[in-house]
Amino acid sequence: MSLFDFPDGREGYYGPYGGTFLPEILSSTIEELRACFAECKRDPAFWQEYVELMESYSGRPTPITFLENLSNHLGGARIFVKREDLNHTGSHKINNVMGQGLVCRRLGKTRVIAETGAGQHGYATATMAARFGFRCRIYMGAVDVARQRPNVFWMERLGAEVVPVTDGQQTLKDAINEALRDWVTHMDDTHYVLGTACGPHPFPEMVSYFQSIIGREARTQMLAAVGRLPDRVYACVGGGSNAIGIFQGFLDDPEVELIACEAGGRGPGRGNHAARIAYGDASVGVAQGMKTFFLQDEHGNMWPTHSIAAGLDYIGVNPILVHLWEEGRVRFDAATDDQVREALRLVMRTEGLIPALESTHAFAVAIAEAPKLGTDEVILVNCSGRGDKDIFTIAEALDDEGWRHFIRDKARSYGA
Ligand SMILES: *Cc1c(COP(=O)(O)O)cnc(C)c1O
Repeated sequence: MSLFDFPDGREGYYGPYGGTFLPEILSSTIEELRACFAECKRDPAFWQEYVELMESYSGRPTPITFLENLSNHLGGARIFVKREDLNHTGSHKINNVMGQGLVCRRLGKTRVIAETGAGQHGYATATMAARFGFRCRIYMGAVDVARQRPNVFWMERLGAEVVPVTDGQQTLKDAINEALRDWVTHMDDTHYVLGTACGPHPFPEMVSYFQSIIGREARTQMLAAVGRLPDRVYACVGGGSNAIGIFQGFLDDPEVELIACEAGGRGPGRGNHAARIAYGDASVGVAQGMKTFFLQDEHGNMWPTHSIAAGLDYIGVNPILVHLWEEGRVRFDAATDDQVREALRLVMRTEGLIPALESTHAFAVAIAEAPKLGTDEVILVNCSGRGDKDIFTIAEALDDEGWRHFIRDKARSYGA
């Protein structure tokens, strides 16, 4: 049975989580979106059109790569990687935005808005808007605008308007609130391209649907490469879209363990991390259109969060993953900033791959566990994106003095 059958008749609910918690004024727009997406889903030609678009435009299917050197170095399980970093625009985000572009076109809308944290979703949305001919505005926390300068540069070149958000902590959750405000005033011509499997129904389901392309491919590819399914699948979790994307390929195979890897930051404690489930610091609440676990105090005030990876720095989490965790189907773990720095060094040096800092959280947990497994065991890590965008943060994180100055000078001369 699919997660999206809603057997108890509560559409958009995963156990007690999910739902549609929005101002009344948005109810007709969200209903219109729900109906349009339901129609797309029922139409086999729609999925076909989507797959063909992703093949011709984003290089799908992305390959899986066997990390032989890293596996030998660790001396345990054989490690495979699903290469979402090889997508156009450098991450899995494009899977979601191109799909929503098709939905937007079917809705007859001509303008898209989006929130962005690490900038990857904004960059992907600006790309999609250029391709489909939509007007585009991106909301981004002012702190993130500063730390993800190259993505801002490209979004603007691609024709999007980037609006820095100076409310609150000036990060992702503030950008989401601002995007919702925009939507309320421009519903007639505007589609809100939500970037992760969060927010009001139908977004968690719709984003999961498009990201399921990762898991569908990976399942077939693992069977072809090793003749069986992996024992474990690791994915990092910000909002939770790349994780639910790859996990959907293996949900009905109980022998495959699914591990969601959160941002452990500086470790447990208020303001130090974004590990909603792994550190047990979060509680159930309703915000940003959905019911799920949030990092918040007892009055519902959101905690500040911290991660070395801007894309994981978020207070809430995908309600579907929370439900799967409560059902015992998904295990949550976290990697700290320090573990991520170590893992990144190791992956770069042994394999010549540069995963995004977000994706490196999945590598870090896998690297910690692989040596405890036998050499006959097989694990799969989702490399959600490539690390080029993180050049400033990585230079700083790896404490590379000389390069840090060089990069700062370059950034200044390029307008940052
Ligand atoms: C945005 C992003 C993430 C986090 O988002 P999810 O919705 O949790 O997948 C992870 N990795 C990369 C490379 C990203 O750009």
